[in-house]
Amino acid sequence: MLCKKLRPAILPLLVLLLTLCCAPAYGFDTAADDHLLILVNSAHRLDAAYQPDNLQDIADRAPSKKGSMKLAAPAAEAYVQMIDAYRAEHRQAVYSISGYRDYAYQKRLFLSKLNHRQQAGQSYNTAYRNTLLYTAQPGTSEHQTGLAIDLSTNAALSNNFRNTVQGKWLLANCWDYGFVLRYDENKTRETAIAYEPWHYRYVGLPHSLIMRENDWVLEEYISTLQQQGMVEFADPADDDVLWQIYWTDDTLQEFDGVQSVSSDNAGGYIITTKTSRISSILTAWAREAVSVGFLQPRTAA
Ligand SMILES: [Zn+2]
Repeated sequence: MLCKKLRPAILPLLVLLLTLCCAPAYGFDTAADDHLLILVNSAHRLDAAYQPDNLQDIADRAPSKKGSMKLAAPAAEAYVQMIDAYRAEHRQAVYSISGYRDYAYQKRLFLSKLNHRQQAGQSYNTAYRNTLLYTAQPGTSEHQTGLAIDLSTNAALSNNFRNTVQGKWLLANCWDYGFVLRYDENKTRETAIAYEPWHYRYVGLPHSLIMRENDWVLEEYISTLQQQGMVEFADPADDDVLWQIYWTDDTLQEFDGVQSVSSDNAGGYIITTKTSRISSILTAWAREAVSVGFLQPRTAA
């Protein structure tokens, strides 16, 4: 039984020993940056020119109130999959209201909401403050990443979405598809954005599950990674799979089992690694064996 379990771990162990003994440091592949964990808020802005290069239109694959509804490819695929799962259970439609928005659109939107409040009688300062609560300044909107989507039962965004069949299903199930409720009502201090039951953000798996388990919004997740350097997560679907999520600002740092790399827009990279628990134990043993001299790293002749 033990031998059967150990067998799949032998190859990674040999690879690790070779790596420890022979390999020079090259760092991780920054060109593989998928931006999925990018943090965007008033303190972490995007350039006016930032635009995803993998936008997909989902308007013909899921109900939408617009003729065109663009998301970055991984978010688009996951969204369609999530809505298909919802539609298999319920008849009431979930409509997408807003997906990718470029910088110029966000600028027009912000100024129009500001003007509207001023015309309704609010002073400039009050109107500006109230607009900031619900509408991001250009460069601070997650919609510019192509990873955020606003949803509704009709054409309007409403706090009542939380009480609808659609809103309840999404809140319970979004995590399994890599989405998170970005602006939680209990996290307005952390996000500095009012409660928005309609705004979902794609971060990918296993990050959505890690954030749900720890009750973290993206600000808290990234700040924990920065402080601790690493977060571990046992895969709920596979006993032997251990996710280790690292944060680093050193692009020459080496990681084993890298699944994805994302810049965080906060000075570093988040490296998602996946390992077998058994091979992790053997890896720790091998490192220990090298450190005490039981195994000798090869030196240059
Ligand atoms: Zn939104």
